[in-house]
Amino acid sequence: MPRLSLAPVVIVAALMCGQAAAEDLHLFSGGVSQDHLKRLKEKTNILESLGNSDASRAFYAGFSVWPPSYGKLRVCFFGGSDATNATVAEIAGQWTNADAGLSFDFGKADKPRRCGKAGKRENQIRISYEQPGEWSHFGKNAVVFAGQNDASLNLEGFNKIAPDKLREGKERGSILHQFGHALGLLEEHQNPNGVCEKEFDWNYITSYLTGGGLILPVELGWYEKMTGADVVGVDFDAKSIMLSPLPEKFFLKGAASPCFVKQYNSEITELDRKAVVSMYPASKKARRAAFEKNKAALQKLIPAGEKGRAARALMKTVFGKP
Ligand SMILES: [Zn+2]
Repeated sequence: MPRLSLAPVVIVAALMCGQAAAEDLHLFSGGVSQDHLKRLKEKTNILESLGNSDASRAFYAGFSVWPPSYGKLRVCFFGGSDATNATVAEIAGQWTNADAGLSFDFGKADKPRRCGKAGKRENQIRISYEQPGEWSHFGKNAVVFAGQNDASLNLEGFNKIAPDKLREGKERGSILHQFGHALGLLEEHQNPNGVCEKEFDWNYITSYLTGGGLILPVELGWYEKMTGADVVGVDFDAKSIMLSPLPEKFFLKGAASPCFVKQYNSEITELDRKAVVSMYPASKKARRAAFEKNKAALQKLIPAGEKGRAARALMKTVFGKP
């Protein structure tokens, strides 16, 4: 496994989704509030406190799982017309799966929920069109590391595209991809059964990323496959909606690499659905069991004593009230 010198931390790994994102990574601190940045920094410290980067990555993947108390995730929009938002909702609704116990609640179909309206209920997923790039927090990170006034999922400029256009091609793919992250799915490049790790041109990626003047520390390990035993993993799927388009130059074989896609795939595959069902089975009993198993596996990764203090506190935040 390549060892790189940057801090072993995924900030909002989904920050790096997409071609545009990969081309201009440093933009991604734009529009993120100070408060939000502070919380992201806290998470950075926690992952650093785990030391071992395999453990920190597995931990990162595991703690973003939505607990069983969430049957539906409330989604709201910071902007966009009702027509645009209804189309985004319709596309994201493709994730609804009778075998899965977690889905999205957008409010009224023709008039999806707006963020920031009076009311005390938490909106778990908050969509913006205004920030740079296309990205989403992973799963529950959207409420642990971002506040109700922060976007948790961004689709830059999609409000300026005709709704019918969103239903096809790369926009459709990106919407499905970002909502996959919102459910807690990671990048397909990180699939523990994947082949991408040896496909990457690490020298190029390292110089590309370190030369980018990143404001937020971005984990190069994002490109390494997850190795934690309990990371949700199914077979590597080149058609997965979770496979991000990255620059050709990131791959030793360029566009010939099985890990290269020119743009997001545009449909959720059977294996993508299988990954969601394994995290959130429809049966309440099975879901609770999956959640407890994940929690126990994470607890094992935390070192004893002072070294694991921050991670234990995070466990409490995330798993305290399942
Ligand atoms: Zn992504």
